[in-house]
Amino acid sequence: MNWEPWTGCYKISDGCTNCYFYGPHAKRFGQNTIQKTDQFNWPVRKNAKGEYNIKGNKILPTCFATDFFLPEADEWREEAWSFIRERQDIEFLILTKRIDRFPVSLPADWGDGYGNVNLGCTVETQELADYRLPLFLSYPIKRRFIACAPLLEAIDLAPYLHGAEHVTVGGETGRDARECNYDWVLAIREQCVKANVTFWFKNTGSLFRRGGAVERVNPFKQSGLAKELGIDLLHGKRLF
Ligand code: SF4
Repeated sequence: MNWEPWTGCYKISDGCTNCYFYGPHAKRFGQNTIQKTDQFNWPVRKNAKGEYNIKGNKILPTCFATDFFLPEADEWREEAWSFIRERQDIEFLILTKRIDRFPVSLPADWGDGYGNVNLGCTVETQELADYRLPLFLSYPIKRRFIACAPLLEAIDLAPYLHGAEHVTVGGETGRDARECNYDWVLAIREQCVKANVTFWFKNTGSLFRRGGAVERVNPFKQSGLAKELGIDLLHGKRLF
């Protein structure tokens, strides 16, 4: 289960082109409507016995159907941070394409970061990596990861890996998906080997180029195929 304190989003970069917000979801809900949800204070809600509804000791993906750093959410984010601060027993996993908005609405007691926030910066191209990652590394964040998703070209992450706990890579999914080239994936993996960083090939995407051929991969098989390739790394070392 994810925590979605608000919903809605709109394009910010190339990787957003085929986001599901512009498909059936958009037709049904309106793609640019940013709204608070009834889950807003879910992490701190308690039952009649005074216990939290969400049990602790878990990873809670946060804002996976929107972006935590949308400007439209600036006035809500401070309260959202206070919920996160209260639940030190939960690891909040936040992924963003708007890392340059990180300092906006930051809580006064943030210091060098909350230990229960694992923040992921998405980069889809080299240009975006070179813009977003220096900012990402300059902010006070205790736990960082990099998500190359959808991976749209070869990216050299080497200058930025010293600050990341792990890297995830994934291709684009959907009818109009752009190709994910396995050579690009392997090159990023090699950079992670050299930097002793954990690497996870999350999914192949719908159009997967490997060994000179392009394969169309069913959305339900993309993660399985990525796993079968057996290239994931733990701290730069093979997992098996
Ligand atoms: S930032 Fe994420 S959720 Fe928002 S439009 Fe882009 S891909 Fe979709």
